[in-house]
Amino acid sequence: MSNDAAGGCQCGAIRFRLTVTPKRVYCCHCTECRRQSSSAFGISVIVPSDGMEVQRGEPQVWTRPTASGDMLDCAFCPECGSRLWHRAAECISVKGGALDNVPEPTAHIWLDSKLPWVVIPDGVERWAQEPA
Ligand SMILES: [Zn+2]
Ligand SMILES: [Zn+2]
Repeated sequence: MSNDAAGGCQCGAIRFRLTVTPKRVYCCHCTECRRQSSSAFGISVIVPSDGMEVQRGEPQVWTRPTASGDMLDCAFCPECGSRLWHRAAECISVKGGALDNVPEPTAHIWLDSKLPWVVIPDGVERWAQEPA
């Protein structure tokens, strides 16, 4: 994908762009991603902490603890409620569906909790839980 990947929320109040080309794009089948996305899995586009910049609007942040005991800042649009990205200590996980051009996943993770009717394509990288 190009290094000028842009994205935004559903109502358009918030726009942002990636300043680097992401090397890792996960389809995450964990129960947190499922609940957060209100869907069968989440798409996590991983960039470094400085790999994303807000171009318009001001997201609100909801914070939750992770399984490993860290805190995760979850940014969302206060107007339409779209979840946009999660900021952890060492990186940002941009929600893939918020990008104008959703990149192809490099791996499927947390297959231990995958829904039985979701079929993973042949030949893609797979992890039972968190990728190493
Ligand atoms: Zn919005
Ligand atoms: Zn997940």
